[in-house]
Amino acid sequence: MKAVRRPQFWFNLAMWVMTLVISSLLIQLGALVMSDVPTAGKRISQADFVNADQLADVEHRIVSNDKALLNTQRDIEDAEFVLSSRTLDYTNQRASFENWVKTRSATEADSQNAEVVARAQGIEELKIAERDAQRIIEDLRVTERSLLRTQQDLRTEEYAINDASFEPYQKARSREVLKVFGLRLALTLPLLLISGWFVAKKRGSQYWPVYRGFVVFSLFAFFVELVPYLPSYGGYVRNVVGILLALLFAHFVIKGMNRYLARKRSEEQRPESEKRKAIAYETAVKKISEGVCPSCDRRFGAVKLRKGEKPDEDPVDFCVHCGFCLFDRCTNCNTRENSFFKFCGSCGTPSENDPSAQVS
Ligand SMILES: [Zn+2]
Ligand SMILES: [Zn+2]
Repeated sequence: MKAVRRPQFWFNLAMWVMTLVISSLLIQLGALVMSDVPTAGKRISQADFVNADQLADVEHRIVSNDKALLNTQRDIEDAEFVLSSRTLDYTNQRASFENWVKTRSATEADSQNAEVVARAQGIEELKIAERDAQRIIEDLRVTERSLLRTQQDLRTEEYAINDASFEPYQKARSREVLKVFGLRLALTLPLLLISGWFVAKKRGSQYWPVYRGFVVFSLFAFFVELVPYLPSYGGYVRNVVGILLALLFAHFVIKGMNRYLARKRSEEQRPESEKRKAIAYETAVKKISEGVCPSCDRRFGAVKLRKGEKPDEDPVDFCVHCGFCLFDRCTNCNTRENSFFKFCGSCGTPSENDPSAQVS
């Protein structure tokens, strides 16, 4: 059973809608501000830290070395073609000479010796030409090998130049991460402090729904605009911040619980008429209908209720924990009623327990 007035319910709902509208407008505004913060701009890259002159020089030398290598390899191909054709010439001439010598020796005398010598000399010249071609190829191969070695050396040099930029880049990167985080912290921390103050001081205010919008906004800013930018340092910062937040949360929850218990204990000491005045009418009606004592916040039923059974049907009239009067009887018709009801539900007689109706 709820004793809240119907318009009150709609008013609360409308106030929540207003809270969300205010916070979403603030969130959009905050996103605009964050996107205009200069640090959100260009990210530095490792290429910014390479010695550009050295690198350009090495790359230039690599290109010209590659060109020379390609030319040498083409020269080798050409020279191999020349060699194979000279080898072919030599073997053909030699074969025909050997045939000629065989046929000649069977029929003729040494009268043609001069011709034999001349032809043998021709073959010898072909052999020399073949060797020359081979030598050219060998020289080219030596050049090729040295060019390949130079290529390897240049690549190693290029790698070393790029590698040297890694450390300064890493340092600059972590500095930048820290700077971005610092700026974001400088923008977000005041919001959190202000909303912490609102929560502490303005919760009872008529304009709490407006302040609540600001609190929602600052929480959003904290989790979306700040937390993802925490520098990690291998997870240290993130874990430490998480632990600190958890401790802070536990601290406030424990403190709040202790305050609540102390308040309840001091309330229980007071006389019942004072207790009744301290409890809001709506809260009391709701709590009693749910089977909870509005004074000590404990379940008052002597037995656990079965499903479908209402606490009103429980025969308990007084809280078994603190003795608080939960149900009483109408002075006129003796009907059993919730002790907070202001009028008897059967005959309409004003209730005696109603603090506002009590006349001393
Ligand atoms: Zn009680
Ligand atoms: Zn009555």
